[in-house]
Amino acid sequence: MDNNNKKPENNDKKPKSRIWIILIITAATLLIGTWIYNAISASQYIEKDFSHFLEVKNSDNLAEVELRHDRIVYLTKEESKKPAAQQKAFYTGLPTGSDTYALAEELNDTGVKVNRQIVEDNSGIMMILSYVVMFAVLFGGMSLISRRLNGEGMMGSVGGNKAKMYMEKQTGVTFKDVAGQDEAKESLQEIIDFLHNPQKYTEIGAKLPKGALLVGSPGTGKTLLAKAVAGEANVPFFSISGSDFVEMFVGVGASRVRSLFQQAAKVAPCIIFIDEIDAVGRSRDSRYGGNTEQEQTLNQLLGEIDGFDSSKGIVCLAATNRPEILDKALLRPGRFDRRIIVDTPNLQGRLDTLKVHTKKIKLSEDVDLHKIAQATAGAVGADLANLVNEAALRAVRQGRQAVNQEDLLVSFEVVIAGTEKKHTVLTDTEKRMVAYHEVGHALVSALEKESTPITKITIVPHTSGALGYTLYLPEDEKYLSTKDELLVELRSLLGGRAAEQLVFGVQTTGASNDIQRATDIAKKMVTLYGMSDALGMMAPATVQHQYLEGNAYLDCSQETSAIVDKEIKTILEKCYNDAKKLLENNRPLLDEISMYLLTKETITGEELMAFINPPVPESKDEETDTE
Ligand code: ADP
Ligand code: ZN
Repeated sequence: MDNNNKKPENNDKKPKSRIWIILIITAATLLIGTWIYNAISASQYIEKDFSHFLEVKNSDNLAEVELRHDRIVYLTKEESKKPAAQQKAFYTGLPTGSDTYALAEELNDTGVKVNRQIVEDNSGIMMILSYVVMFAVLFGGMSLISRRLNGEGMMGSVGGNKAKMYMEKQTGVTFKDVAGQDEAKESLQEIIDFLHNPQKYTEIGAKLPKGALLVGSPGTGKTLLAKAVAGEANVPFFSISGSDFVEMFVGVGASRVRSLFQQAAKVAPCIIFIDEIDAVGRSRDSRYGGNTEQEQTLNQLLGEIDGFDSSKGIVCLAATNRPEILDKALLRPGRFDRRIIVDTPNLQGRLDTLKVHTKKIKLSEDVDLHKIAQATAGAVGADLANLVNEAALRAVRQGRQAVNQEDLLVSFEVVIAGTEKKHTVLTDTEKRMVAYHEVGHALVSALEKESTPITKITIVPHTSGALGYTLYLPEDEKYLSTKDELLVELRSLLGGRAAEQLVFGVQTTGASNDIQRATDIAKKMVTLYGMSDALGMMAPATVQHQYLEGNAYLDCSQETSAIVDKEIKTILEKCYNDAKKLLENNRPLLDEISMYLLTKETITGEELMAFINPPVPESKDEETDTE
């Protein structure tokens, strides 16, 4: 994700910490207010004890007296001579039960001025004033906080509609800025066309697409593609991340969704892009741990998607790298029913990406982008963009005018090899092993009669952890498998490990998933399908929750259980040995295809078959040279 040109409208922290801050400010303000009040009122006159008053009075030193209901305020003769501003008055408490009138008379008789107001009684005003100060501080403090938190100075946006949404009138990105991803671009072309010209669709009566799901690893360019769609169609681009919908308070996310669609409707046609939709769109069944707030937000989102009138030209694009955890309701027709795969780039894709990103950069003559592309198998677009930028920075640091090959190579180490991505960028030896491993699978399966056709073999590492994979395409959906078919499947699953062992004499961790799956099949053959020699028709396992996971658990005696284990092992060993023998007999083919895969990184099923059945007319008949 490149965030450098977005300015989030809003940035609020968790409301919980806000409450704490408010409490602290309130307490501080109260303290300050009380202190100010005391300080101001104390400066008016000084408290003395009653004996001081008597002493002054008896020494005939009293100039003025003011009798209040609770105290006597008095001014000595020395003080009364001073200018009014410097006069210091004293006060003392009026003893309970004293007869103030009598006292006043008595004092008056001795020539003391009585009951002129010596000190202005502004304690009431003081009180009010200090409260005003207090609240001013409180209010000021709070709005300061909320401004800091909201970036806007809005108070009480706890339940507000402010999400980290941003809108670009024009993204300025077009398909030219997106390297590779031709299939994705093609699928998105229709959406662009539709945004350009909605009438064309509505006139025929066609329902317009409402949304598409961009599926791919982080950094493969999903955001970029969405922006490019907006750029190509020349419409505004709204973007928000699914995680921004997820808030602590129930209902906040839902109101954000509502406001997002409201705002979008105002400027339609436009694109709404929801990044990381899995954060809100997680399946509501408890397996992935949903919660009320998330559910409400999701419901609101579904409602909005159903609700908006697509003829206005709003298209909702969403990105995820975990489509499997999304709620089925999101993927229903009329919602995000289109799935657009944004692949990790292969050699050509990486080269193109490097070209796009080096376009604005001065390159010296020795730069060979092809070599860099070769070295970066498994890197995604974001990595490559970063690599190029890092190289440019290095050139600047060294005071050069152009980026040279060494800059690129060094940054490759910094950016890609140095990060956690390391494991997905393979060394040459690893690449060779992965290539042989994958061809092992593919070849075993291609040489069998009953196998499912292969669509693609690749050694471009996948973020799921697979370093390469072989993609099979079943011709028809199959509900029944024969024992032979299962055995073929087992052999091709184990073909990967067999090839490693055969060619390099080593066993790698790369085969762990294959072995897991093979064991699973063998286990089912023995315990559920009655396909083992030792147990025959007996099914020692029971299936639980047939409509959920379909996990089977063993339900038999210990002896039977031991036989089960032995049978599974026998089946797996036999299949493994068969696969290995098959590869041994076709070693030249294995080498040839592996080398080809190494250079191309991705090959299609047809390319593979061309090796196995070279396009010579007569060789068609004898396509199975098994054993
Ligand atoms: P995602 O949304 O899939 O995580 P982004 O679209 O945010 O990935 O990609 C991040 C950056 O990587 C982009 O801004 C761009 O610079 C670069 N990038 C990714 N894929 C490509 C590509 N196919 N062509 C050119 N640049 C790419
Ligand atoms: Zn494998």
